[in-house]
Amino acid sequence: MSTIFSKIVEGEIPARVVYEDETTMAFLDANPLAPGHTLVIPKDEYERLNDVPDDLVTNLYATIHRMVPAVEEAVDADATTVAFNNGEAAGQEVPHVHCHIVPRFEGDGGGPIHGVVGDLPELSDDELDEIAGKIESRA
Ligand code: 5GP
Repeated sequence: MSTIFSKIVEGEIPARVVYEDETTMAFLDANPLAPGHTLVIPKDEYERLNDVPDDLVTNLYATIHRMVPAVEEAVDADATTVAFNNGEAAGQEVPHVHCHIVPRFEGDGGGPIHGVVGDLPELSDDELDEIAGKIESRA
């Protein structure tokens, strides 16, 4: 089944496309959190970052790298929050990898990415060592 973003890629539904190359596309979010809120996607459909093939990663990041200053300059933003909701539990609603570029302004009332979780975990040094080891062995 085609995601709503694949339909945008195919031109089946309209979007305000602001950049496009062979493998990636950027367009304005339909429900912007701020003026200039832009989504960057791989044109091919992958549900999560974990699924994006190695040969696409560089190009996907290159498009994000290109769009961040373009968005900031276009709306005269002071900063941007750049983030992926990677999986349903993280709030991902559209199952097609997309990077949010959200313009931020001094005094906009928003918060940092540290606000995405509820209760902060209390972790001992042993637990931190164990977690670090597990991640390191998989990297
Ligand atoms: P998610 O929660 O999956 O990380 O974010 C999905 C984003 O896609 C939301 O910010 C939502 O506003 C945006 N969105 C959903 N449907 C459409 C659409 O049809 N067109 C565009 N341009 N954005 C969409």
